[in-house]
Amino acid sequence: MAQLSLQHIDKIYDNKVQAVYDFNLDVKDGELIVLVGPSGCGKSTTLRMVAGLEDITAGRLILDGQDITAKPPKDRDMAMVFQNYALYAHMTVYENMAFSLTLRKENPNVIHKKVLAAAEILDLTSQLNKKPAQLSGGQRQRVAMGRAIVRNPRVFLFDEPLSNLDAKLRGATRREILLLHKRLQATMLYVTHDQTEALTLADRIVCMSMGHVQQVGTPLELYDTPANLFVAGFIGLPPMNIYSVLVQDGMLKGKNFTVPLDSEEQYTLREYNGREIMLGVRPEDAALGSDVMLKVTNNENLGMNTLVHGYIGGVQESELKLSAKLKGWTEYTHGDEISLTFKRKHFFDKETTNAIRKDG
Ligand code: ADP
Repeated sequence: MAQLSLQHIDKIYDNKVQAVYDFNLDVKDGELIVLVGPSGCGKSTTLRMVAGLEDITAGRLILDGQDITAKPPKDRDMAMVFQNYALYAHMTVYENMAFSLTLRKENPNVIHKKVLAAAEILDLTSQLNKKPAQLSGGQRQRVAMGRAIVRNPRVFLFDEPLSNLDAKLRGATRREILLLHKRLQATMLYVTHDQTEALTLADRIVCMSMGHVQQVGTPLELYDTPANLFVAGFIGLPPMNIYSVLVQDGMLKGKNFTVPLDSEEQYTLREYNGREIMLGVRPEDAALGSDVMLKVTNNENLGMNTLVHGYIGGVQESELKLSAKLKGWTEYTHGDEISLTFKRKHFFDKETTNAIRKDG
C-alpha cells in the first residue's frame, strides 16, 4: 500500500525563486505518475520535495495517511533513481545493489536473496560480478533500478532516468520500466521533459509549466482534450499547429485562409461569434482535402506516413507554418501546392488560453 497525497505544496528557494505553486495531487496505490514539462518548470523540485531532499515551503505531504512533510529522507521509505546512476565504480554490481541493505546491517542471507531476486527481475544475474565500467549504459541504468528494488520501498522516484541513454536504448529501457512497474505494482513518480516518455509510461501525466500544474490526466486525456494552449503545444509530436482566427458566421477566418465549421463546432463556439480565438490542428488531423492551400517546403518520409511541412497560402511567415502528417508515402517537393482539410480542430480562448469546450 502506498498512497501519496501532495496538498497545496509550494516551494520557494532561499534566493526567493518560487519553483512550485500550489501543487495538488493524489497518487493512487500502484499508480505510475509522470511529471512532465520543459526544463525549469519545477518537476525535479517537486520530486525532491517528495523524497525529502528539499524542504517543503508550504503545504503537506501525506503517505498512507501519515503526514511526512517534515520527515528526513531516510524515514520516508522511498527510493530514488537518478539520471547519472550514481553507482560506486569500485564495487561490483552485486555490491552496488546490496549496499543500502549492508548499511542497514540487514541479515546477509536476506540481502543475498533480495539482490538475486532483483537481478532476476532486471536480467542482471550474469552481470553480478562485474564492475559498472564493464557494463553498457542500459545495464548501468538497470543496476541503479536494482538498488532501488532491493530496498522494497513504498514509493519509487525516478529523476530523468533515461536522459543519458541513446535513442534506441531509451525506448528499450522505457519498456523495461513499464514491465517493472507492472511486475512490482509499485507506486512510482517519474520526472521527464520528454513528452514521448510521458505518453508511453504514465497511468496519469502531470504537465507543468513555470511552477504551475497545467493539467493532470491520462495520456489520452492530455493528447485528446488538452486543457490549455500550453498542454496542447507540449504534448504531441510534431507539435500542434496553432493559428489566431476570427469566428464569423460558421467560418474560421485566419490570416489568409478560411475553414468551415460543422454544426457541432459552431455550437462549441456559440459564445465566440465575431471574436478571435486560437485554433489548434494536430499534424495527424490535417488530411488531403479542399479547405487550405499549403505550399510545401519539405517532405519527410517516415515509412508508414509522411511529414509535409510548408506555409499556408505560400506566405512565409512563422504564424502560417503548418506541418501535416499524411498517411503513407508521399513525395512532394519544395514549391508543390497541396490542399488540406482539418479533420479535427481544437479551440482555445485567446485571453485565458484555456480550451473552449462544447459544454462550456
Ligand atoms: P525542472 O526539473 O523542471 O527542470 P527545477 O525543479 O530543477 O526544474 O527548477 C525549477 C526552478 O527552480 C528553476 O527556475 C530553477 O532555476 C530553480 N531552482 C532549482 N533549484 C534551485 C536551487 N537549489 N536554488 C534556487 N533555485 C533553484
